[in-house]
Amino acid sequence: MEETTDINRELMLDANATAGVLYEIFGVEMTASPTECAHCGNEGEVGALLAFVQGPGIVLRCSTCENVVLRIVQTPEATYLDARGAVYLRLAR
Ligand SMILES: [Zn+2]
Repeated sequence: MEETTDINRELMLDANATAGVLYEIFGVEMTASPTECAHCGNEGEVGALLAFVQGPGIVLRCSTCENVVLRIVQTPEATYLDARGAVYLRLAR
């Protein structure tokens, strides 16, 4: 894989490390759910996104173009979810 960005791979998490946080937020198992990158159109499972801890939150990036798909910040009072990088998220019923 060619290095086209300056993201710090040493901060990369295993996708499963974020599964618990995602479950807490959405109330369903998310790692096998499909999503689509709004930047490059790559479709894949949430669990296949590249997960990083940067500052106070978790950042999930597209495994193809490395653009941010989801950003999650949790404070003592609330959870902030920035999903503008995703065309959609699928939550199983
Ligand atoms: Zn992408």
